[in-house]
Amino acid sequence: MMVPSVDVAIIGAGPAGSAAAGFLARRGHAVTILEKEHFPRFHVGESLLPLGVAALDALGVDLATAPYALRKSGAIVLCEESGQSTRISFAETLPGLPDHAYQVERASFDHALANHAGQLGAEIRYGERVTAVREDATGIEVESSGGSLRARFLIDASGLASFLCRRRKARAQIRGLGKCASFVHFTEVDSPRAAEVFRDGDIVLILAPEGNWSWVIPLPGNRISLGLVHRSGTSVRSAREELARFRDGSGFLAEVLGGATMLEPVHRCSDYSYYNQASATDRTVCLGDAHAFLDPVFSTGVSLALHSAKHLAEAMEPSLETDHPLQLEDYFARMKHGYTVFERILERFYRKGWAHTTFFADSRPAQRVRELNTIFAGDVWRDDNEWQNLLLRSRRSALRLAEGQE
Ligand SMILES: Cc1cc2nc3c(=O)[nH]c(=O)nc-3n(C[C@H](O)[C@H](O)[C@H](O)COP(=O)(O)OP(=O)(O)OC[C@H]3O[C@@H](n4cnc5c(N)ncnc54)[C@H](O)[C@@H]3O)c2cc1C
Repeated sequence: MMVPSVDVAIIGAGPAGSAAAGFLARRGHAVTILEKEHFPRFHVGESLLPLGVAALDALGVDLATAPYALRKSGAIVLCEESGQSTRISFAETLPGLPDHAYQVERASFDHALANHAGQLGAEIRYGERVTAVREDATGIEVESSGGSLRARFLIDASGLASFLCRRRKARAQIRGLGKCASFVHFTEVDSPRAAEVFRDGDIVLILAPEGNWSWVIPLPGNRISLGLVHRSGTSVRSAREELARFRDGSGFLAEVLGGATMLEPVHRCSDYSYYNQASATDRTVCLGDAHAFLDPVFSTGVSLALHSAKHLAEAMEPSLETDHPLQLEDYFARMKHGYTVFERILERFYRKGWAHTTFFADSRPAQRVRELNTIFAGDVWRDDNEWQNLLLRSRRSALRLAEGQE
């Protein structure tokens, strides 16, 4: 039997895989995504940045009227212990990116993005788990639960499952960032305080003791996503209990979630911060979380995945034309710059006192606020942001890599 053949096979139909498929299919390439799940399916990561909106615009996806998206104007940082709060506004940035983003219900967002890739010409095969890949001089043999597929190139967009990275034993865990997260959805959220949260659509970041923090993400349909991130290791049971304890101890959450219904199950994930140290070969490349994931606190994951997908599709074009091995040095240099900016700021976020000094200072010059907000919007590839330049000039990040750890 003839093995079907495509230009690019993609593992995973998350935002990275579907966006890459869309950008490549639009350029006329034959693309097939193999996705192990059947969509729609639950996924964490609901808060987008203007960076992601710009990439979606480039792909032809407009979330303004999407029923699964809520317009987001920025973020609120809140410390209940000290009674301090501040607002990060995407309208108060250096000019460049859109002045807003969206909160999305991921099950529907991911499904819509995959459908969009389909409309642009990509094939999406659901319920097909990739089990093995073999690379040779002219392409890739991909084995999945649905059979075999031959491709000239392969993109691994398998998310934190990081299919190729694990097989290559190239996972370098990053120590010093968030360690473990518990999260759950609430429905029928209709308190007066919740109405304020839904009005601006801002994510609320609650700073908790010992470097822990919590997210409150308003979603369409009077739904709230609540998550608690722990700085240090926590067992499954205590993470769950701690989420309940945190919720009970927060006056803000009591006001917002009063009368709401919690939807089981409480989800949990841990040890998610890592770099893939073998992200590319002549014919394979890892994208999105399969390349790296830093930390959820600044909601960078989906937007970096979408932005990278756009640039990767451009960077793959010469190889798709000539069938020569991938030449991705410039692409990876660009991505490394972006990850480094966020790594530097994340490392500071988890330093004792940094968040309070940075967010709640009495007098913050307007230009400095704009510069900081620009980073939080995801606009980190510019050289006129003095705050960012200082960040990059400062001493090396204190984050440590534990090589080869699973
Ligand atoms: C606690 C937490 C909170 C977060 N909050 C945010 C947030 O607020 N905002 C934000 O932007 N990001 C957030 N993120 C990050 C975000 O979830 C990811 O960055 C984003 O989903 C990455 O997209 P992706 O396409 O790379 O991977 P995924 O979205 O994980 O997609 C990967 C896909 O690959 C499929 N797959 C895996 N293995 C195989 C296989 N062998 N064969 C076939 N298919 C396979 C999976 O089923 C999945 O559908 C958060 C992450 C965590 C851990």
